[in-house]
Amino acid sequence: MTTATATETRSTERTLHAKTYEGSCFCGAVHFTVTGEPAAMGYCHCESCRTWSAGPVNAFTLWKPEAVRVTRGADSVGTYNKTSRSYRKWCKQCGGHLFTEHPGWGVTDVYAAVVPDFPFRPGVHVNYQETKLRMHDGLPKLKDYPKEMGGSGIAIPE
Ligand SMILES: [Zn+2]
Ligand SMILES: [Zn+2]
Repeated sequence: MTTATATETRSTERTLHAKTYEGSCFCGAVHFTVTGEPAAMGYCHCESCRTWSAGPVNAFTLWKPEAVRVTRGADSVGTYNKTSRSYRKWCKQCGGHLFTEHPGWGVTDVYAAVVPDFPFRPGVHVNYQETKLRMHDGLPKLKDYPKEMGGSGIAIPE
């Protein structure tokens, strides 16, 4: 019991010190928070990201699922999964996108664009072989995914 209490205290301290950022959908019906530090940040150029977002590239931040919490409007959150790899969440009121859960990878991709105060620091481009918008920012450009996510890990020119 003493051990359990100590563990609980430590995790409470971590929560208190961890920064929380608030995100919301286009209309504001859905609010959510992300807490702590993401596991990775960057840009994805894949066709799925482009057709889902209706944009040329998706700025992603990857979090442990428990770091992402819907704080308002949970009833308005819709889910679409074309495949079991990605459960895409959006607001049923305005259609605005929120985040995508990737159960196989054990991460949730929160779109940097919907968390305005979050300090987005991209480190990598993924699926750059499919790009429709070349970006000359000096960051590594991976052909597909990093090796640890099941990809080739091969870097290609900007
Ligand atoms: Zn909305
Ligand atoms: Zn993508």
